[in-house]
Amino acid sequence: MSAISSGQHPPVPWHTFDIDTTLEKLQVDPATGLSSAEVLERLEQYGPNELQETAGRSPWIILLDQFKNIMLLMLIGVAFVSGFLAIQEKEFPKDAVAIMLIVILNGVLGYLQESRAEKALAALKSLASPLVRVLRDGKLLEVAAKDVVPGDIMFLEAGVQVAADARLLEESNLQIRESALTGEAHSVEKDAPLSLAENTPLGDRLNIVFCGTEVVKGRAKAIVVGTGMHTELGKIAALIQGVESEDTPLQRRMTQLGNVLVTGALVVVALVVLGGTLVQGMDAFSNLLEISLSMAVAIVPEGLPAVITVTLALGTQRMVKRHALIRKLPAVETLGSVTTICSDKTGTLTQNKMVVQGVETASHSLTVTGEGYQPTGDFLRADGSKIGVGQLGDAPDLETLLLSCVQCNDAVLQYENNDWGIVGDPTEAALLALAGKLEFTSDRLSPQLPRIAEFPFSSERKRMSVVCRVSNAESKVLTQNSPPFVMFTKGSPELTLGCCTQVLIGNQLQPLSEAQRQQILARNNDLASRGLRVLGFAYKPLSVQPPEGSEEQAERELVWLGMVGMLDAPRPEVREAVVKCRRAGIRVIMITGDHQLTASAIAQDLGIAQEGDRVLIGQQLEEMSQDELEREVDHVSVYARVSPEHKLRIVQALQKRGKFVAMTGDGVNDAPALKQADIGIAMGITGTDVSKEASDMVLLDDNFATIVAATEEGRVVYTNIRRFIKYILGSNIGELLTIAAAPLLGLPGVPLTPLQILWMNLVTDGFPALALAVEPPEPDVMYRPPFSPRENIFARGLGLYMVRIGIVFAIISIALMMWAYSHTHAVKSDVLDADRWKTMVFTTLCVAQMGHAIAIRSHSQLTIQLNPFSNPYVFGAVIITTILQFMLIYVAPLRAFFGTHWLPLNELAICLGFSSLLFVWLELEKVFFQVFQSRKQPAGIQQKP
Ligand code: ATP
Repeated sequence: MSAISSGQHPPVPWHTFDIDTTLEKLQVDPATGLSSAEVLERLEQYGPNELQETAGRSPWIILLDQFKNIMLLMLIGVAFVSGFLAIQEKEFPKDAVAIMLIVILNGVLGYLQESRAEKALAALKSLASPLVRVLRDGKLLEVAAKDVVPGDIMFLEAGVQVAADARLLEESNLQIRESALTGEAHSVEKDAPLSLAENTPLGDRLNIVFCGTEVVKGRAKAIVVGTGMHTELGKIAALIQGVESEDTPLQRRMTQLGNVLVTGALVVVALVVLGGTLVQGMDAFSNLLEISLSMAVAIVPEGLPAVITVTLALGTQRMVKRHALIRKLPAVETLGSVTTICSDKTGTLTQNKMVVQGVETASHSLTVTGEGYQPTGDFLRADGSKIGVGQLGDAPDLETLLLSCVQCNDAVLQYENNDWGIVGDPTEAALLALAGKLEFTSDRLSPQLPRIAEFPFSSERKRMSVVCRVSNAESKVLTQNSPPFVMFTKGSPELTLGCCTQVLIGNQLQPLSEAQRQQILARNNDLASRGLRVLGFAYKPLSVQPPEGSEEQAERELVWLGMVGMLDAPRPEVREAVVKCRRAGIRVIMITGDHQLTASAIAQDLGIAQEGDRVLIGQQLEEMSQDELEREVDHVSVYARVSPEHKLRIVQALQKRGKFVAMTGDGVNDAPALKQADIGIAMGITGTDVSKEASDMVLLDDNFATIVAATEEGRVVYTNIRRFIKYILGSNIGELLTIAAAPLLGLPGVPLTPLQILWMNLVTDGFPALALAVEPPEPDVMYRPPFSPRENIFARGLGLYMVRIGIVFAIISIALMMWAYSHTHAVKSDVLDADRWKTMVFTTLCVAQMGHAIAIRSHSQLTIQLNPFSNPYVFGAVIITTILQFMLIYVAPLRAFFGTHWLPLNELAICLGFSSLLFVWLELEKVFFQVFQSRKQPAGIQQKP
């Protein structure tokens, strides 16, 4: 087995060996693959098929990057000045040390957030780790990419990301995009039989597929020759694993916020120093300097980074619980801004469980019974009589159609655990189940009609063909002229019929008349308008095998066989989700490759479109200029018979109209549209690896309702972030103005020391803010229009709120401060310190924030209208924080450390009385807005103030 060690030196030149030598060296039988025991042994020997993570930026660089933040830089400046002043006065620089600790803490937190986010994302990505189709113990299995071992026989098809380096055994039209490895954007056509010279460069090794590259077209069977770090990708992994780090919208908003706060604070500081000097004279300068330091500390929301980290982490977790996996962090914040969801039909809006309902040939119109993929059921004529297994000789056209169902098919039906399961495309599996009902199985037919070539299915062509050699076929139709080869084609009925010039009626080939053509199309429309997915079938006897890539030529002059209509029931939860979207101001658009009537029937059933609504079909879209399309996109909710490149044009047109678009996709060619969409959504179950790579989010259950659930979570996350920003910054502005007022009112000393401010910003604001981060959705969360992701942080009243509440806050505490100052200086006492007015200000500010935390839970509902247990954390945080605040006044060592003073109970009560005024104000504001709203907007959607 030493030959397998491709990663060891010297590497094994697999491209130089022919197929037999490769199989021999890897000791595998290509018909059965490895045995389970061999797989375990090889897994032990070579380790899992994973690339080792390499470090991106060094941890030091990430840590240093955290200090680029303007607010932290200002705090560092404050710490230096404060430390300098303390040392000059021969005091321990308590404030400076505390500020530096907070700066370091914030830096470390930012660092942890970044590295944690990266790790969390990596872990989430591995949840959606690709599955690989392999042959083991003679059975076709899907295994996790990391469990693939050298010697595994692996199957590849369009859309798959190659999981390991492998030597091709067979391939058909295989085209691979190797840009991950070679940087070459064009796809490479591969060729299995070649044996190449040893010095063939990587890009020319046409008999090998490499790990990390993408199958663009065709299919192949290959034997794995290298896994994990022993692959070509593994060798260069360190070079290409760059860490993507772009600022999220929230980070950009935070930078904007920091700039505004710091500039605002500097302006206020300048005014206070100037005004204070005017009021109190030059002697007060050093006092004013200390006041300035306190103000600078007051304006920085030191607790904000921690709260944001927690909110985003919880949001991502809640989304995973609802089956939406976030691949790119900004999506957590921006999902709530989606205005338009463009969804595929099959599998996302529908269940992707196909069951054939009817079969139409020139001489038969049959209803088919049976459930699921079970190959049992009846073929019933209109009069209710059955066609039995032995009676197909009388229905040669039906027999040929069923042959085509089985042969022109890549799915597998398997009976396991007392149930019929499928591997592959559900549409094709349904055809196997259909044929199985009359005992047409692949096991029986494949030896009679071995497949020798194929023209694979693609969403652009909307059809596929296979070429089989006719060797002792039982079929009368195929034996009557005994052609050496036969081609079976299936696909969209219109396109397949377009390729036909004859029709099989009974045993006879007849020219296809225009009237027959129209009749077939009318039947197709009948089936489609019942919401059925219809496939057309044709065949063609061939005297020679068509060359590779000649599909256009070969798929001409076909013989029409008939049609099959299958039901793909809508997902039951989608109707409700569509209603929810409508209420939330989100438009749902269906984009499908299916027939316009099928699409329209299902769209109407789900509430996406109304009867008579216009459906735009791919061909019409093709004829439109981009400008024309932009004019149409606002009026069309169903696009049918589209190709993936149309999807890109539709997203672009919608974006041009100012929409924020979420778009689903699963195929390899959907990747550009997914990248272009504001939120690209890939399917977790049916999606190709390539589409997942291009997406921002993966639906673990492929379900449309999950998109809506994730959108709701996105709105909750963003609303909570805004809520605690309002909460924290309203308080910061209040603190700033109160401190600024002291010298202007002629009060001596600094009302709040930097240490006390840090306590407020981190502890008494921090705990309730954390609790607000888990506030459940407000009842109107999906009853209001989406917010623009490009909006400014201060938009929709946030800036105004901060200033308004900051001022109210300041008025309350300044009034208290003035009263407290005169009161404490009027009441002379030996036990009480005259400076305790400062502690009264400190206490009032802290406790007022408790009322703020309770009131801000809802922007529209009064606190008594809210269920206190819907977020018990807020009340818990308020109680704990208030107790902590009282400890700072009544526990002697804490008093000494924080520089507070003991307060008699009556003075404490007065502080509480003043504090409660903020709560009263906030509740009155809500009453005012409720009255104002109900006058302005008597019914309908409730808007945020
Ligand atoms: P959606 O775009 O909504 O997910 P879709 O499955 O209808 O759904 P495609 O997969 O692009 O989109 O299929 C387009 C058309 O191609 C189908 O309506 C059908 O007529 C045809 N088709 C689908 N699958 C096959 C197949 N395996 N073989 C042949 N033709 C197919």
